[in-house]
Amino acid sequence: MRRVEESRLMSQSEGHIVLLAPLTGPVVPLANVPDPVFSGGMFGDGIGVDPLEGRLVAPCDGVVTHLARTGHAVTLTSAEGAEILLHIGIDTVELNGKGFAPMVEQGAHVRAGDVLIEFDQDQIALNAPSLVSVIAIANSDAFEVVERAQGGLLKAGETPLLVLRARDGAAADASRQLSATKVMEEARQQVTLIHAGGLHARPAARAREAARGFDARVEVRYEGRKAAIESVVGLLGLGAGEGATVELLGVGPQAQAAVDAIARELTRETHGEVEEKPARQSSPAPQAVARPAGEALAPNTLAGVSAAPGIAVGKLVRWDDADIDPPEQASGTSAAESRLLDKAIATVDADLDTTVRDASQRGAVGEAGIFAVHRVLLEDPTLLDAARDLISLGKSAGFAWREAIRAQIGILSKVEDALLAERAADLRDIDKRVLRALGYTNAAARTLPEEAVLAAEEFTPSDLSSLDRSRVTALVMARGGATSHAAILARQAGIPALVAVGDALHAIPPGTQVVVNANTGRLEFAPTELDVERARLERSRLADVREANRRTSQQAAVTADGRAIEVAANIATLDDAKAAVDNGADAVGLLRTELLFIHRAAAPTTDEHRQSYQAIVDALSGRTAIIRTLDVGADKEVDYLTLPPEPNPALGLRGIRLAQVRPDLLDDQLRGLLAVQPLGAVRILLPMVTDVGELVRIRKRIDELASEAGRTEPIEVGVMIEVPSAALLADQLAQHADFLSIGTNDLTQYTLAMDRCQADLAAQADGLHPAVLRLIAAAVQGADKHGKWVGVCGALAGDPLAMPLLVGLGVTELSVDPVSVPGIKARVRNLDYQLCRQRAQDALALESAQAVRAASRETWPLD
Ligand code: PEP
Ligand code: MG
Repeated sequence: MRRVEESRLMSQSEGHIVLLAPLTGPVVPLANVPDPVFSGGMFGDGIGVDPLEGRLVAPCDGVVTHLARTGHAVTLTSAEGAEILLHIGIDTVELNGKGFAPMVEQGAHVRAGDVLIEFDQDQIALNAPSLVSVIAIANSDAFEVVERAQGGLLKAGETPLLVLRARDGAAADASRQLSATKVMEEARQQVTLIHAGGLHARPAARAREAARGFDARVEVRYEGRKAAIESVVGLLGLGAGEGATVELLGVGPQAQAAVDAIARELTRETHGEVEEKPARQSSPAPQAVARPAGEALAPNTLAGVSAAPGIAVGKLVRWDDADIDPPEQASGTSAAESRLLDKAIATVDADLDTTVRDASQRGAVGEAGIFAVHRVLLEDPTLLDAARDLISLGKSAGFAWREAIRAQIGILSKVEDALLAERAADLRDIDKRVLRALGYTNAAARTLPEEAVLAAEEFTPSDLSSLDRSRVTALVMARGGATSHAAILARQAGIPALVAVGDALHAIPPGTQVVVNANTGRLEFAPTELDVERARLERSRLADVREANRRTSQQAAVTADGRAIEVAANIATLDDAKAAVDNGADAVGLLRTELLFIHRAAAPTTDEHRQSYQAIVDALSGRTAIIRTLDVGADKEVDYLTLPPEPNPALGLRGIRLAQVRPDLLDDQLRGLLAVQPLGAVRILLPMVTDVGELVRIRKRIDELASEAGRTEPIEVGVMIEVPSAALLADQLAQHADFLSIGTNDLTQYTLAMDRCQADLAAQADGLHPAVLRLIAAAVQGADKHGKWVGVCGALAGDPLAMPLLVGLGVTELSVDPVSVPGIKARVRNLDYQLCRQRAQDALALESAQAVRAASRETWPLD
């Protein structure tokens, strides 16, 4: 009786559910429960009790919808549909049932006050972190707690503890239907982040994907901070860098499966990510321009880090988006503002989708990856919820969006991990895009003078994609890093760029004339006329040289003493093929086919292969194309192929080895290749060959497929020399191959045991190392024995200090980036082959790459 009276005192209204204390003991507010899963409300709203007796009773009438196998927890569903989780002690699942004696079975109908579980307090207190127990409303979305006991000693089955109210009838009904099948689980796991850069945008986005489809809520916790797995922004804000150990906490019927999937994703090796690390194939990593200790800067000069080389003179223009200033108050209703925001976000999302597709088609892997992450940020629940909250307070859509973004940028700016902090630039980017889609514009964007040197705290990728590049002569940033996306894009666009110039940049008044020397990492403001003159002269000298080289680029490259060198282009797309022709490439020396299909969800079909290669061959107007079979693996991941996890992907299933596990992929590609007309325009190149057995097997397969296709004319097959074994066995390979093509990027990596994607080793992993040169020499000698020619398609071929030595070692084809073709051809024409031979032999005897570089510079100075 007393129980009923007290219930009335606690709540007078109809339709409320009164829960009695299921345990005897003092109240512990939920926030004080010593377990973040409960105190953070992941199991729902509720309350704690510190039990003084070992008896858990039903807090109301209901059905036992779940009884933990280990007897430490039970879920009771009331007639109204409220799901009440009763959890004895903390981390007691670990006790595996010891000390717990369930007194009911799952499915049992119980009355308030019936004993559900008896437990041995002493045993549990000794073996678990805490005896504090929790009563949580698992479907808090359908039932809210309207009153709760404030303190004092609770008596099991007697003292009212919580009063619940259904949030709305429909929710309660739905929840009741669901509850019949739901089994609440909790799961937790510690995970040490192995991704380079930690929980940055790409792994965060992938972890979010991994959690999709599971009926569970998962939070990631790190150093007292927490973020829901759906929020990439929240995950970035954790500041969990590489090597950090985060905790995954899952709650829900599929909590364990969700946590497992996320943990798998976070501990999966990814083989070099284009987002944070520029893909080696796109451009060399930027070099920090180290200032020798004690070197004083010239007056009016700031030092920065070179992100993209070049020299520029121009007027400083502030690019920052201060001008976009949306009004704070909404002009329409909250609902109308909310719709405006949704529409703007949808517009931006569609634009980004197009950008990602275009970039993928062009083979611009880095760019595609960057904007794909922006799409994920755009639907981030943390941002959207914050913006909607502000809109409901009467703020305009633009203001709400901007504030939501700023709050997250504020969090990221406190993160110590530089790589994660750089992601603030991505948030600024989607901030601006959405504001533009809402109709706000940036005045500065429209009024660029000629020769604008754009200055900003930091550029965002979309700044660069929307720039009028004909007016922009250089980019300078107060912050930013070599790995920032803007830096990657600036390099790809060929705009000289300096990053990390510091706050002093902002002190330079807009309109000031500046000289940017991104080669030396200097920004000179208000320069003397003489300085400007010098910089202009140097810039125009370099431009003249480029122009003169272009004029002769369509002619063959022959050394002064008559040795012909074919200068070909490395390409990845149809656009590249056109650029190769424009720049005078004699042929295509390497088509990286994996990049042509990198962002696809499914492997290309035979016909897709054929069409792509045919279009490229047609664009080459009679020039030959060396088409390399798919070189997937290591630092080149493709979405359509999940390779088995490997401890050392660079030493694993990559290149031609993939055919061992997926011969169908190679067959489809070869069939496509063999269907291209005229077949004589195509040569096939096999990547990562280690010995002659591999070559012979694949050559046989090519012959079979060719005869299946009814082709009788022979097709040339070449081998990449990318691993030391292939260089050493070049004579054997050359017996069965028509030509050899040296991949110096990988040959350097495997010879020096230095990861080509490891920024710290970038300076040391130099292909001019005498050991690499000796392997190149061995490869040429091996090929010579069988009268086969040797080319180089790695980055060394386009290195002005390396190419004279390659020529001297007997290489007759250099395959370089399309834009480098004119310069390399011009340089070949200035070479004397006999001198090259001598110097190359001398280089083989030197002791370091630096010594080789110095010797080469002395003989063949740079322009
Ligand atoms: C190389 O390894 O030098 C090469 C040309 O191949 P990739 O850079 O595509 O691995
Ligand atoms: Mg390679």
